[in-house]
Amino acid sequence: MRELFPLCRSLTGDGVRGTLEIIGQRLPLQVTEVPSGTDVYDWTVPPEWNVREAWIADPSGHRVVDLAESSLHLMSYSVPVRARMPLAELREHLYTLPEHPERIPYRTSYWNRSWAFCLRHGDLEALPDGEYEVVVDATLDDGGSMTYAECVLPGRRPEEILLSTWVCHPSLANDNLSGVALLATLGRALAGRELEHTYRLLWSPGSIGPLTWLWRNEERLGAIRAGLVVACAGDPGQVTYKRSRREDAWVDRAAAVVLRDSGAPHEVRPWVPWGGDERQFCSPGFDLPVGTLTRTPAGEFPEGHSSADDLDFVRPEHLGDTLRRCLDIVDVLETDATYLSLNPKGEPRLGKRGLYRAVGGTTESPVDELALLWVLNLADGGHSLLDMAERSGLAYARLRDAAGALLAHDLLERKG
Ligand code: ZN
Repeated sequence: MRELFPLCRSLTGDGVRGTLEIIGQRLPLQVTEVPSGTDVYDWTVPPEWNVREAWIADPSGHRVVDLAESSLHLMSYSVPVRARMPLAELREHLYTLPEHPERIPYRTSYWNRSWAFCLRHGDLEALPDGEYEVVVDATLDDGGSMTYAECVLPGRRPEEILLSTWVCHPSLANDNLSGVALLATLGRALAGRELEHTYRLLWSPGSIGPLTWLWRNEERLGAIRAGLVVACAGDPGQVTYKRSRREDAWVDRAAAVVLRDSGAPHEVRPWVPWGGDERQFCSPGFDLPVGTLTRTPAGEFPEGHSSADDLDFVRPEHLGDTLRRCLDIVDVLETDATYLSLNPKGEPRLGKRGLYRAVGGTTESPVDELALLWVLNLADGGHSLLDMAERSGLAYARLRDAAGALLAHDLLERKG
């Protein structure tokens, strides 16, 4: 995150490209460039925006606002400017947060051509009257492109798990470098494993990125069994899961059980057509089983979209906790299965197989008897491990391990 933080990211341009290059040093990425002007459903890929320098000099020539100091200082997609103007005229192009005079706001103008700078309200109040010089050395190139990247980790099956996050925000840590970095770390953890499903990790600019990916991959969306948008992963708030539009998709149930099993404060929310990239994945024409995993959701922490969302706001322990939950969800998706008991008439004798306490009456148990009994009872081919975890209230991992022990003792066979 430290390495990625200073880059001037936007919907398009070298900031996103540079970000994906750095991720590409850690994971094999397929980078796609989509030409500006490409029509994507009701939208159009915007011109490519790049900026070399942007600053404001006061009447004495001193640079009072400079993009080189923070990528937040220039409104994203500002058109090029080279002008001199009095402070009163300049002020129409300055954004501040009067209620937080020490914070620089984050502003964009993707679809309306204009220019503006963002600065601390305290700095604005200190500006002397006089004539200012303004330079925005930027390009909006209709012949450019928009960049996104995928990492595909093949599994035993072609069915896919889609993991997605947005890369269009500049120097903002929780929203959403935390998601960018978390997805890369998750990818590295999965890259070393034998996988059941194929995992597709997607880093793309918000909204237009997922839409363009959906548009380019529409014929193969049927392969997606589950998905997660992962974002805002490093703040101190509790883990929040927002259900897919389907509400009870496999991933929704897996995430709810994982958060329940974590024992930590958390929230599971119903679907709402508001938030991040899940709005595109869960639009009715796709209705993909894609949920959203965050800590405090985007737009709900007061530091968001300002310079207060910096590298001190996110903490390693929170990022690690979010990563743990992601890995737990992946574990459910990888191991959930249905089983058939090979001894369904009456309970099998666990004692003679070493699966039951040897001495009656003792409460000390060498194995997780309750989990064994739940799995044996629901191993009728119609209940998955996730069904058992929901119905029994036992942790998913206990039931998964019990099923493993019963399989090893030829008391179960895997059905699906
Ligand atoms: Zn945001």
